[in-house]
Amino acid sequence: MSALILDGIKIAQEIRSEVAAEVKAMAAGGVRPGLAVVLVGHNPASEIYVRGKVKACEEVGLYSEKHTPSETSTTDELLALVDDLNRRDEIDGILVQLPLPSQVDSKKLLLAVDPAKDVDGFHPMNVGFLSTQRPGLVPCTPAGVIEILKRSNIPIARREAVVVGRSDIVGKPAAMLLLNANATVTVCHSQTHDLAGVCRRADILVAAIGRAGMITRDFVKPGATVIDVGMNTVTDPAEFQKFFAGNAKREETFRKKGSTLIGDVHPGVADVAGALTPVPGGVGPLTIAMLMFNALKAAKMRRGSRIPELTKA
Ligand code: NAP
Repeated sequence: MSALILDGIKIAQEIRSEVAAEVKAMAAGGVRPGLAVVLVGHNPASEIYVRGKVKACEEVGLYSEKHTPSETSTTDELLALVDDLNRRDEIDGILVQLPLPSQVDSKKLLLAVDPAKDVDGFHPMNVGFLSTQRPGLVPCTPAGVIEILKRSNIPIARREAVVVGRSDIVGKPAAMLLLNANATVTVCHSQTHDLAGVCRRADILVAAIGRAGMITRDFVKPGATVIDVGMNTVTDPAEFQKFFAGNAKREETFRKKGSTLIGDVHPGVADVAGALTPVPGGVGPLTIAMLMFNALKAAKMRRGSRIPELTKA
């Protein structure tokens, strides 16, 4: 058996097209939704992510602006910037790119973002809205996980879902979204006893751990849907061989770039799972698509317009 590969690039493109159509309609009515991205300092990975986000805004027709305070910015200076963005009506979404330099009080800064403009969905008020099933802004990556399932016609209600990882950014909101979609949800973490045994109960297994290839075949019930949120870079040739020996395409990339991306799910799981998201090309592309969706949603919610809906349960 070989798993159905769930194409995140295609699903993300569908969502971006839907967002672009709604943004166009809003713009025709005189309102162009706007996203402000705050990138503090020069973290190379963050710079790449922010570039991708700004480019995506251009593609879907959102107004965007990038703020680049220096690496040495203080919490108070950044609070003043966020305060200014909170006040400006043409800015519908504010994204503070993480991680922030160590001298900055990240929690204080994220708490200062107006919840109505919190396109990352990290503000405690949006966390509360999610857990009480009220309209709000939902974290992008977990929202993307749900879109992949729904748009691939994978039933969620009444299924056993197991989420490995309990971070505020991925694991917990993913578990809450699955619960809201009527799955029976178990959340696992580093202290979980018999992790493989618990995972084998899953009809839907979500891996959000940050450990290359940790979820092996023994963790997966035959036919289960496996969603791999992990993004890990392999640079060690021995580790590369362990995961990808004999995979000509990967070998070529590794030879050229000296690294390759792997999820938290071992490639061998493809022989057991019923459906599987690849890395790259699975959950990753959905994160930016859902950010675009959140910026549109924030613009509509702030103006009391109909809240856009994606797929229904
Ligand atoms: P995180 O904050 O480090 O959380 C990792 C979680 O995994 C924690 O809850 C941790 O448990 C659990 N864990 C670690 N080792 C474990 C083990 N041996 N057994 C069971 N559980 C274990 O990471 P995150 O921010 O949620 O991200 C998770 C992964 O998703 C990373 O690879 C990240 O790069 C990726 N990611 C991808 C996207 C995307 O767009 N595709 C977006 C965000 C994140 P404890 O709580 O007990 O420590």
